[in-house]
Amino acid sequence: MIEILTPAEVERARETGALVADILQTMKSRARVGTNLLEIDEWTRQMIVDAGAESCYVDYAPSFGRGPFGHYICTSVNDAVLHGLPHDYALADGDLVSLDLAVLKGGVAADSAISFVVGNARPQESVALIEATEQALAAGIAAAGPSARIGDLSSAIGTVLADAGYPINLEFGGHGIGSTMHQDPHIPNAGRAGRGYRLRPGLLLALEPWVMLDTDVLVTDADGWTLRSATGSRTAHSEHTIAITADGAEVLTLPSGR
Ligand code: MG
Ligand code: MG
Repeated sequence: MIEILTPAEVERARETGALVADILQTMKSRARVGTNLLEIDEWTRQMIVDAGAESCYVDYAPSFGRGPFGHYICTSVNDAVLHGLPHDYALADGDLVSLDLAVLKGGVAADSAISFVVGNARPQESVALIEATEQALAAGIAAAGPSARIGDLSSAIGTVLADAGYPINLEFGGHGIGSTMHQDPHIPNAGRAGRGYRLRPGLLLALEPWVMLDTDVLVTDADGWTLRSATGSRTAHSEHTIAITADGAEVLTLPSGR
């Protein structure tokens, strides 16, 4: 099902989006060498509760995961890229961390993900992966507008990732979002311009380019959730929730004060 939100619902989505962005930025600023992934999960839980919001993850039990997720944020480190289950692990210098968060507030969900390197190390390979996903996300947003089609967004995202030399996995991609976290339409991270559903004002989309350095094959951890690169190579993930407006696209998951 594809939801078209009312202006009042889009207004509430702005609040949810700002909350998601503020939590992610707070976690990024607190994450340092020695921070445990379970601490990040607990800090996130507390911020969601304090904001009067609900987690989209705790009870989430889709076909691609094992039972309810049971945590508040996805913490994917190094070769882990999607759905990383928080566990007892202390971050080390140079770790590439991807945090993915979706919450529901005022009946509207927002979803965003960021990747960054912990500590003082700046491995060029990791920096390049992160930049490619951020640039692909920006290209997807720039391609979004009231007359664009889903294929235009997919093509814009996929072109940046391919030009950067990364393989593209099409199993997981962007999606519609609204009263629930995951809705139609699906937005593959590569595709042909001019194809697919035509966007319209009031549609909310989560765009989320992600890549693995040298493979398009994912493997699942024994925890039933965490997805890693099959080669053990580094990975990155960037996601924003956007609202289609009469004259373009508005990014809803920007931190407040920016
Ligand atoms: Mg997400
Ligand atoms: Mg998403």
